[in-house]
Amino acid sequence: MLDYDDHVAVAVSGGKDSLTLLNVLAKLEDRFPRSHLTAISVDEGIDGYRDEALQLARKACHQLDVTQVVVSYRELFGVTTDEIARMKLGQTPCSFCGVFRRKAINKAAAKVGATKIATAHNLDDEVQTVLLNMLHGDPMRIIRSGPVIRDPRGKFLPRIKPLCDIPEKEIVLYAYLNGIEFQSIECPHGHAALRNDIRAFLNQLELKHPGIKFTLQRTAQRLRDTLAEAAPLIELQQCQRCGDPTPHELCEACVMLEAIAA
Ligand SMILES: [Zn+2]
Repeated sequence: MLDYDDHVAVAVSGGKDSLTLLNVLAKLEDRFPRSHLTAISVDEGIDGYRDEALQLARKACHQLDVTQVVVSYRELFGVTTDEIARMKLGQTPCSFCGVFRRKAINKAAAKVGATKIATAHNLDDEVQTVLLNMLHGDPMRIIRSGPVIRDPRGKFLPRIKPLCDIPEKEIVLYAYLNGIEFQSIECPHGHAALRNDIRAFLNQLELKHPGIKFTLQRTAQRLRDTLAEAAPLIELQQCQRCGDPTPHELCEACVMLEAIAA
């Protein structure tokens, strides 16, 4: 996933996963003098939730001597997740928030000159997403996603998930053992109903059949390796509004911004 001279932009929300990843990457960076690490934190504008997490992230960056860049939805998109939630737009605020977060991190990473973007998805997140994509009828998303996402044309910064093989429980344990202070309350807008059902289902299976999450992860990787050539590269053009690469006239974020403005 990493090269010795990478400038890694790591997305740090202030939760256990991202602060653990930040700690691990900071240790690695110390051993590779030509590597560089920048933390990127996104302020979605969620009252009573994001402020605490941002503070924990800031504190961790200070302790580890890592530069932190904070970008906000307000400044980038002119709207916050709390405001979107109040608009009742027909989709959950989480669908907007996910698209905006990806765009915000991409922008910030490009601005600091990063060569890779690291996110803290763990084994549980990854296998939940595999099942979620199956149950949404979107198998190609399984093929195009995964622990390392690279655009062969170089239109996007490569995205890596260094914790993809670490069970969530072990990350919690690592965070406790290393005295990492993290935010534990959940987002007030969080109601990803199907994902929660899948999480409960997988945890139940894992209890009865230890190792089953790893098996599912390997299965998805085998599918990717086998089917990668069958998945055609999506033609990309420039978004007519923001210039970002997109298969359509407007990128997903700009379509959402138009819906919000309407
Ligand atoms: Zn756009």
